[in-house]
Amino acid sequence: MQLTILGSGTSAPHPERAAPANWLQTAKGSLIMDFGASTAYRVAHEQLDWVNLDAIWISHFHLDHVGGLVPFLFGTRHAPQIQSRRKPLSIFGPKGFKDLLLKLDEAAKGKLFEQPFPLVVEEVSDGEPFEPIVGISATTFSTPHTTESLAIRIEDGDGRTVAYTSDTGYSESLDVCIRSGFTPDGVFVLQEQTDRHTPRTEGGDEACAVGTTEEGRTYTPLSGMGRDRSGSRGREVVGGNDNRS
Ligand SMILES: [Zn+2]
Repeated sequence: MQLTILGSGTSAPHPERAAPANWLQTAKGSLIMDFGASTAYRVAHEQLDWVNLDAIWISHFHLDHVGGLVPFLFGTRHAPQIQSRRKPLSIFGPKGFKDLLLKLDEAAKGKLFEQPFPLVVEEVSDGEPFEPIVGISATTFSTPHTTESLAIRIEDGDGRTVAYTSDTGYSESLDVCIRSGFTPDGVFVLQEQTDRHTPRTEGGDEACAVGTTEEGRTYTPLSGMGRDRSGSRGREVVGGNDNRS
């Protein structure tokens, strides 16, 4: 598995930070976790294979995490690169996500679902196991951020795990749920350390270090809980064993 932080900021204009989004590449397919306003640009900038993207995970309905879906889907209708694609794109989100997407589609005059490929939208409940990509298992759990907000823990079937909390405060159940079942190769990704979203750091400084990552870094699973060990920017592979896919 390889994780690229596409954005860990907000949708406020910033010269070096992008809205929240993370690209997870597995041997079985690819997944974007959250889709902010800058995400379509960021995937192209990182030269990621967005045409063959398998799935998108939306953690909650704050527009800096979901707002980029509208221009992206409006664009894929006509983007020449994706016109021959026929495999489905699955978009998963918490309860209420379908309704939100339909409202956004209203604003787009019903164009978002007119794609050259099948678009599958699915809602996931707190604690519900599902497969965002065939052969990749995921579990969700509620977070103390919004009423619908969910964190996700993904296991690749080969013993590697990634957890993505998105914006959240601390909760004991979240802490336990993420850490339990973690393999030594697990990476724990938190989003944003702002005053509103400060995660508690007891026993989890490493995790918070990952949460402060800058855009454009690529991570492979680290040894133990994830830690941002790079001081440089760019598309850099940090820690772990890069030759494992
Ligand atoms: Zn939020």
